[in-house]
Amino acid sequence: MSQALPVKQAEIRYGEVSTILSEKVMIPINCDHCRQDTDISIETLKSKQGILCEHCSNVRTFSTTEMRLMRMLLAQAGYHFAL
Ligand SMILES: [Zn+2]
Repeated sequence: MSQALPVKQAEIRYGEVSTILSEKVMIPINCDHCRQDTDISIETLKSKQGILCEHCSNVRTFSTTEMRLMRMLLAQAGYHFAL
């Protein structure tokens, strides 16, 4: 491209690295029943199947709202994943 970049686009802040997470990345999910964390992969969370607690075998569902919240928090930390 020979055109000059518009000022807005030129203001890229270096040092802010974003990472695209793999679907295999494990996210600790806190159990409603025993309050312990179980690591669940993003792939499993996205599949909307029940989340089985490895400590007390309690099964819970991961809601769309929780998914959105998780995405937002991870994005703030510089981590992203596709829905
Ligand atoms: Zn549990």
